[in-house]
Amino acid sequence: MDERHPLIGLSTTELRSALAAAGVPEKAAPMRARQLWNWIYVHGARDFGAMSNLAKEFRALSADTFSLARPEIVSEQISNDGTRKWLLRSGGQEFETVFIPEPGRGTLCVSSQVGCTLNCRFCHTGTQRLVRNLTPGEIVGQVMVARDRLSDWPSTGESRRLTNVVMMGMGEPLYNFDNVKAALAIVADGDGLALSKRRITLSTAGVVPMIPRAGAEIGSALAISLHAVRDEVRDVLVPLNKKYPLAQLLGACRAYPGLSNARRITFEYVMLKGVNDSLAEARELVRLIAGIPAKINLIPFNPWPGAPHECSDWAQIEKFAEIVNRAGYASPVRTPRGRDIMAACGQLKSESLKQRASERMAEFRSAELVRMPS
Ligand code: SAH
Repeated sequence: MDERHPLIGLSTTELRSALAAAGVPEKAAPMRARQLWNWIYVHGARDFGAMSNLAKEFRALSADTFSLARPEIVSEQISNDGTRKWLLRSGGQEFETVFIPEPGRGTLCVSSQVGCTLNCRFCHTGTQRLVRNLTPGEIVGQVMVARDRLSDWPSTGESRRLTNVVMMGMGEPLYNFDNVKAALAIVADGDGLALSKRRITLSTAGVVPMIPRAGAEIGSALAISLHAVRDEVRDVLVPLNKKYPLAQLLGACRAYPGLSNARRITFEYVMLKGVNDSLAEARELVRLIAGIPAKINLIPFNPWPGAPHECSDWAQIEKFAEIVNRAGYASPVRTPRGRDIMAACGQLKSESLKQRASERMAEFRSAELVRMPS
């Protein structure tokens, strides 16, 4: 066990306190914190020894006291379309992160939880029960790992590969609000990872009471997993709708701060054959979002073993898209990326299970037995 204090994921204030606690004089702490921040988040330093502009004693103290460890990479898969998926492990649990390269940009799809509570019918992650929330360090750590593997340091480079972050991996980010907020503040910090809030999109299945807080306190772009235009259908596809029905959800969207044509809400709509893909539903969609600056991402359903749905026919997707588009909304049909490595939207899942307290106890006891001299 590494007993050193992890620095990745600490806010600047927390970093200063950690330095003070390690004995760095109060006057020097703010400057030391700034220097460390720059090494960690601009240069991706993994080793205090390499921080050449810091005094030797301070480097030695830091190396003894602090850790720059990222989540461990369990596996890396590369799709034939260039998409990369990493299975990461931290604190004994596993979660996935996906990098999607596109011409002129690269998007990292970041997880916020191990597993998920929401059970959306068409989503593979929904078949994995919630194990736990990820910490700020584990969320920021996904960006660090991606930049390490892509050789994408410094983060401020002109031709950096990772340009956007979407909170669209495993989990519901608004059910892990505090940790997601803390992590995104670090990701967006202009003196560090420097991905501006406009390049960060948080996607929610519709945790309505948290949407105003997301707008006020996180301030990223917002995406809504809409997927249906009538409550009867959405209740089945996204069971959270029973708690927060469409009228409430769209009300929260209308009130989201800072919306304009340049800052639109993205509505995600998974195309499920015979379930939500009729042209009448396309027209209803347009009525429903009237007045909201919006873009509609039509996502062809990505299959997974045992999934209860099929993807709509391509011709139907195109007709649906045309109706939305004619009404004045951008309605790109998302090209599925990374399907061959189960990295596409809604395909992520890990083997981690929530242990019952009794199981944890049993493991603890057997470990004790091993350690105890007979
Ligand atoms: N909790 C977040 C997760 C985002 S996942 C949220 O609900 O917004 C990114 C998008 O992929 C979501 O809109 C999600 O509903 C959608 N999705 C899930 N499973 C899918 C699948 N099998 N095929 C296509 N899209 C899927």
